[in-house]
Amino acid sequence: MTDWKKRTKAVHAGTRRSQYGEVSEAIFLTQGFVYESAEAAEARFVECGPDEFIYARYGNPTTSMFEQRMAELEGAEDGFATASGMAAVSGALTAMLRAGDHVVSSRALFGSCLYILEDVLRRYGVEVTFVDGTDLDQWRAAVRPGTKAVFFETVSNPTLEVIDIKAVAEIAHAQGALVVADNVFATPVFSRAVELGADVVVYSTTKHVDGQGRALGGIVLGTRQFVRKVLEPYMKHTGGAMSPFTSWMMLKGLETMDLRVRAQAATALALAQALEGHPALGRVIYPGLASHPQHSVAMEQTGSGGTVLSFDVGSREAAFRFLNALQIAVISNNLGDAKSIATHPASTTHQRLPQAQKDLLGITPGLVRFSCGIEDTEDLLADILGALEAAQGSQAARDAAE
Ligand SMILES: *Cc1c(COP(=O)(O)O)cnc(C)c1O
Repeated sequence: MTDWKKRTKAVHAGTRRSQYGEVSEAIFLTQGFVYESAEAAEARFVECGPDEFIYARYGNPTTSMFEQRMAELEGAEDGFATASGMAAVSGALTAMLRAGDHVVSSRALFGSCLYILEDVLRRYGVEVTFVDGTDLDQWRAAVRPGTKAVFFETVSNPTLEVIDIKAVAEIAHAQGALVVADNVFATPVFSRAVELGADVVVYSTTKHVDGQGRALGGIVLGTRQFVRKVLEPYMKHTGGAMSPFTSWMMLKGLETMDLRVRAQAATALALAQALEGHPALGRVIYPGLASHPQHSVAMEQTGSGGTVLSFDVGSREAAFRFLNALQIAVISNNLGDAKSIATHPASTTHQRLPQAQKDLLGITPGLVRFSCGIEDTEDLLADILGALEAAQGSQAARDAAE
């Protein structure tokens, strides 16, 4: 691995050029590869070298470039790219677990991650214990000798709880458990997850890596032993591979990721600072604010509060009026995109959760998640303030009519 800085790696790491010496990475839009002879075909199925390929479900030159670039960026030995972030999460966990194993997981999870942990793994006989991921005593009490893995989102969606990777990894490693971190909100730009003790780092590259709302993708990063001996056999036979065309888009996304993400994070901090204390808002949640309960962990771990903030506008009705009054930010459910996106988690991404679970996770009826794009910060602040006014104005009008 080179000693380049991340910004250089994001543009150049893992590049392989064809005989034409192209500047922009080539897309090898092929499912298969031709062998020189029957003997060569047989040899490749016995042992497949790093520049040799068999079938795109197993690997492809464009996808390999993306895997290598992401691995170098993260400081991991290797990676396997997947068709979506969820293919990465479910692949990483199911490849390493079997019936009878025990897993400890943070409770504050993205809806689909919760489905994997709560439904799928349990259905196949894996015992899963949920904890409040910000409470180290709960991790200590739940992780036991023989626990196979711990799982958490390093920054949770949508309430932005920050997990202390180093402390949880120490607890897990003391009992021999692997640390699997879903690192989407931290972003590959700010991540130090491997250095802090994560054994397996998972990204939905749909988010900041593509960053332009074009394609689904994911990646699992870890040691060469884990990626090639545990994960790859599972992934290549169950079919969750990333398509070469998507890999090419992700490589192009990586070229601008650092610029985008730093601009988005600077905007998120400016918006959070401007909105904190606004009379129409119950709470403003952003790990970059000193008022955030895990502010110091976030700053130590990533040096940034990230690109997403959440705030509570009081009620479901006010949240809907707020979303409907936005002029620049769009109503959608992606995040990390170049376009600012506002989401009402309680009615969309986390709709499926029973009310008790929503209460436990702080997903209140008025909670809005705001993913900052790369638009002008002042325009975005004006958009949010205008929409807050519209949301309140109509409330005032209704109050007067009553
Ligand atoms: C979006 C997301 C996923 C799932 O990724 P997809 O690419 O949509 O499959 C998993 N974990 C987190 C934290 C996410 O934000």
